[in-house]
Amino acid sequence: MDLSKKTEPEIKETLKDLLKDDFLNRLYACFECGQCVSVCPASRVNSTFRPRKIMHMLLFGLVQELINDTSIWLCTNCYNCEEVCPQGIKVSEIITSLKNMAYREGNFPSDMKKQLDAIKSSGMVYILDDFDMKKRQKSGLPPLSQGIDDAVKLLESVK
Ligand code: SF4
Ligand code: SF4
Repeated sequence: MDLSKKTEPEIKETLKDLLKDDFLNRLYACFECGQCVSVCPASRVNSTFRPRKIMHMLLFGLVQELINDTSIWLCTNCYNCEEVCPQGIKVSEIITSLKNMAYREGNFPSDMKKQLDAIKSSGMVYILDDFDMKKRQKSGLPPLSQGIDDAVKLLESVK
């Protein structure tokens, strides 16, 4: 995404997720306490992922850099950061907005596309194949459905 090549209405449309609920104005209240980082499971396993850093990059207007950086997808949306932020900053929701924007730009991990296709076609994030079924059978477990029809119908109805 190159915001510099967009017109003002196009920029507003691109940033609409971030502009809602006064997300960005609230960010000015961040005083770098690092509480969000201390409770973040993604930061625990990946030292380069820091929600505080993401908030600060946003304050510096580095939206494009964030959207182009696949590390935003490390966020699990657990909401821990929002629970502890003393300034009430919607850290998790802001990162979700960034993901939505990145998705619209076609910038997301390829494995997510596979999961998305599986959800659309079966209602499940992982489609059990014959190998899985045989393993279950060998372990004495009952067979499982290879799709959830109601979920597929529901997804089709909200297209
Ligand atoms: S919502 Fe994302 S950024 Fe916030 S604590 Fe959970 S993993 Fe970390
Ligand atoms: S917890 Fe809130 S105030 Fe503290 S660094 Fe994170 S976003 Fe900023």
